[in-house]
Amino acid sequence: MQEVVAGALFMFIFKETSRNAYNSDRGDVIFATNYYRHFKLHLPHPDTIDQVMRDLPPQLLEELKAQLVGRLIEQKTLRRFRFQDKYYFVAVDATGIQTFTKRHCEHCMTRTSKKGVVTYFHYVLEAKLVSSSGHAISLASEFIENLEHRDFNKQDCEQKAFVRLAVKIKHYFPRLPICILADGLYPNDTTFGICRRNDWRFIITLKEKCLKTFNEEAGLLNATAKGCSVARADKSTRTLLEYKFLNDIEYKKHNYSWVSCNETVIYRSEKDNKVQQFVYITDLHLTTGNVANTADGGRLRWKIENEGFNTQKNSDYKMEHKYSRKSYNAMQNYYQMLQIAHMINQFTEKSRDFIELLKQYSKQTIKALWKELLTFMKSIPYTPAQLQEFISG
Ligand SMILES: [Zn+2]
Repeated sequence: MQEVVAGALFMFIFKETSRNAYNSDRGDVIFATNYYRHFKLHLPHPDTIDQVMRDLPPQLLEELKAQLVGRLIEQKTLRRFRFQDKYYFVAVDATGIQTFTKRHCEHCMTRTSKKGVVTYFHYVLEAKLVSSSGHAISLASEFIENLEHRDFNKQDCEQKAFVRLAVKIKHYFPRLPICILADGLYPNDTTFGICRRNDWRFIITLKEKCLKTFNEEAGLLNATAKGCSVARADKSTRTLLEYKFLNDIEYKKHNYSWVSCNETVIYRSEKDNKVQQFVYITDLHLTTGNVANTADGGRLRWKIENEGFNTQKNSDYKMEHKYSRKSYNAMQNYYQMLQIAHMINQFTEKSRDFIELLKQYSKQTIKALWKELLTFMKSIPYTPAQLQEFISG
């Protein structure tokens, strides 16, 4: 089992992008011997991996992932990225992982176009630990799915999945101080209640049409100049940041704070200036001292989309590749393997040695270095004794 799970993991760590590519490397005797040399494991046949991925209950790999992340937290690896020296930023967002033109499994979600064409798809709600230096590490994943024991007429959705995801996060990380970052879908009483009960803080995107009474009161207070503001300029990026905040605005018997950040990128001619506004609701008490970090924290939510989803979907990992065409179970297991592999690779790619390598010449890319890694695995000769050990191992 160790060899099979490690094999699946290395398929993603080596960024093989398909079971065929993995199998061709596996057939290379130098590659297989070097793999054995380093890990004392054999590379299993992809069909064997697939069989196990089909049968293994997905919560086992999710647990393995949580244990690994738990060790990282214990080892204080991510401590310096904490907010207010206490909270880990956890971004929550959903992303599509597979689409099909025909029903793939009984848990498929469905969408019907205006022309009546039905698409079957799967998507997942992720909670990722994000950092200002670009980490996006999966804490927990909740598949958004149609299950018979839930009301079949009402499809599952991101909001319902968040309730389940929160239970998972609390189960795996009961004492972790968390600050939830989420988009404009999340400012509602359910989310606030979940955060309150779990003792999590939150910074959530607030759209104009959301929480009408809260927004109205914030507008009113801002108009009467009750708000406090702070400004900051970044010369290197020619950016001006203006933060505004209000505390103690009541919504459904609880008080929350309102915060906005206006970002102006300054060009030679004033008419070219680009202005963007970001507004958040948070349960943190804001001061002129912490408002900038809070709003900047809210903006880290983007990391789950860029460093998280986009990296996993692009050529490196091909998240949307159909590693298993029929089995929903296997799809979930491959997904968990991808999360673990991506986490390991992030620490490699952010390590000092690796960054040094990237700097060696100006056009060096991560992709090219990965190619070299595979070349190394296929070309560094082993000693006859090592080959013997591999054969008899
Ligand atoms: Zn399906």
